[in-house]
Amino acid sequence: MEGTRREQLVTLLKERPHSVQELSTFFGVNEKTIEKDLQHLQKSLRRARTLALYVLPPRCTRCEFEFDARSLKTPSRCPKCKNERIMPAMVKIE
Ligand SMILES: [Zn+2]
Repeated sequence: MEGTRREQLVTLLKERPHSVQELSTFFGVNEKTIEKDLQHLQKSLRRARTLALYVLPPRCTRCEFEFDARSLKTPSRCPKCKNERIMPAMVKIE
């Protein structure tokens, strides 16, 4: 894939939603770096007004409880059913 990491991020996130963890593995950088890239992308996309970055919040795999989407961190367990299998937040660009 060509381009800077941020350009590649846009390409990937337009294809399908990815979690921060997936992106950090893909690019070989830590999750903090990806989060910063995403914040930067969100701002520049907002200025361009063509595409937007969306965060699908973390979700409990058992009871479907939806967490707050503002944090990209995956919660350790569900407050409702105590399940520890939480689907991470997914980021996409449309
Ligand atoms: Zn739950």
